[in-house]
Amino acid sequence: MFTYKMAGFSGALQLTDLNDFITPSQECIKPVKIDRTAGKVGKIRIEDDGSYLSVSATGTETKLQKAQITLNDCLACSGCITSAESVLITQQSQDELFRVLQENREVEDDTHRKVVVVSISPQARASLAAKYGLSMEEAAYKLTAFFKNLGVDYVFDTTFSRSFSLIESCREFVRRYQEAETNKMAFPMLASACPGWICYAEKTHGSYILPYISTVKSPQQIMGSLVKNYFAEKKGVSPDRIYHVTVMPCFDKKLEASRPDFYSDMYSTRDVDCVITSGEVELMLEKEKITLSDVEDAQLDPLFGGGALVNHIGGGSGGYLEHIARYAARELLGTEVAAFEYKTLRNQDFQEVTIEVEGKQPIKMALAYGFRNIQNIVQKIKRKKCPYHFVEIMACPSGCTNGGGQIKVVGETTPKDRLAQVTGLYNSVQTVNPWTQSDVTSLYEEWLGGFETEKSRTLLHTQYHEVEKMTNALAIKW
Ligand code: SF4
Repeated sequence: MFTYKMAGFSGALQLTDLNDFITPSQECIKPVKIDRTAGKVGKIRIEDDGSYLSVSATGTETKLQKAQITLNDCLACSGCITSAESVLITQQSQDELFRVLQENREVEDDTHRKVVVVSISPQARASLAAKYGLSMEEAAYKLTAFFKNLGVDYVFDTTFSRSFSLIESCREFVRRYQEAETNKMAFPMLASACPGWICYAEKTHGSYILPYISTVKSPQQIMGSLVKNYFAEKKGVSPDRIYHVTVMPCFDKKLEASRPDFYSDMYSTRDVDCVITSGEVELMLEKEKITLSDVEDAQLDPLFGGGALVNHIGGGSGGYLEHIARYAARELLGTEVAAFEYKTLRNQDFQEVTIEVEGKQPIKMALAYGFRNIQNIVQKIKRKKCPYHFVEIMACPSGCTNGGGQIKVVGETTPKDRLAQVTGLYNSVQTVNPWTQSDVTSLYEEWLGGFETEKSRTLLHTQYHEVEKMTNALAIKW
């Protein structure tokens, strides 16, 4: 969603002041709409209250309507990223990973060496597989070998942590459904896995919309808990001695990893220390003068579901709607649903599903991808006219397989063809039901002490914070 212009990022983010929002500085938006077809415009006058008047040649004054800037337009400016966040994301690049690996080679005392862990998301793996003409399995084996040859100690797959995220989301949905009589903010429950959406909700809609967002951490951040908590304990290593890198399809995951909520004061460490995108892995391969297809295969690390590559049903953004809908049908309506009928509404990125059982209140859910559709849902909620119990919200049109950090196409392939290729690869992996994954259910017992424990709430859930805008309007050149 966001683009950056620093430390190798692209786009328009610039450091100006260090304490607040980087104010929009582009001369790109007019505050009013001037209807030039209505007649010759004479002068524009700005009133004390900030409204604009059009004064015609004959002296007639017309108050001008404020222009409607779509969210697609305004989010392109990155003006809602704070300076502090921009500093933090500079700490997250492939150069930082190279630096840590180099330091590891130079230290003489092994106790000062970092244990380097890389967790790869399935969407990023699909992008790299498409780029290098590999199957998903081949890409998984070769990426494991590539990172290990560089000096990385362990390579994991965030599909494993997503199983926890899906289970927790299902349970939270049913709990909210049962509490709906007393908790007015229970519905709709809004998905929480997309940091682009969370960032937007916190900065634009503040306290009103936040209670609707599921408290479940994203797969990236649950992997952070698994690595810095369970894995650290298992290996007898202090969390701050682990350097945890994730490979993700978007830049927004860098902002997510930088959130204070995912920082341990006790160990002075983050759950995820560095996020690199699929495109940045391509740059790493180029720097090493390696083509991924030429790398020898290496076995997946067995901890965290590494036996065989698996996926979840429900599409390239993780399948939150599918999993919650199946679970809700079983737990709340007493029925099993084999397949759902998705009804396309305004566009392919806005679809709904209704689960109906005679004599019971139907449960309605929707997918809303891209900011046009998100805005639509938010407006419906504000007007108290949202008919859904759950909405799988994702910032990118077409979802995570189409994330802004995926490898860009060059040559004859069109972006549309590449997206179809990436989606096909992503869907080619056998699916698994998180509820019956024995390594997941056993970790619930061994690590978290079961469902709904204090430990599971601390390690698998998070909270959101209203961010006050401090935009300095004087800095905006209209
Ligand atoms: Fe990142 Fe997926 Fe959200 Fe896009 S939809 S910003 S890829 S998490």
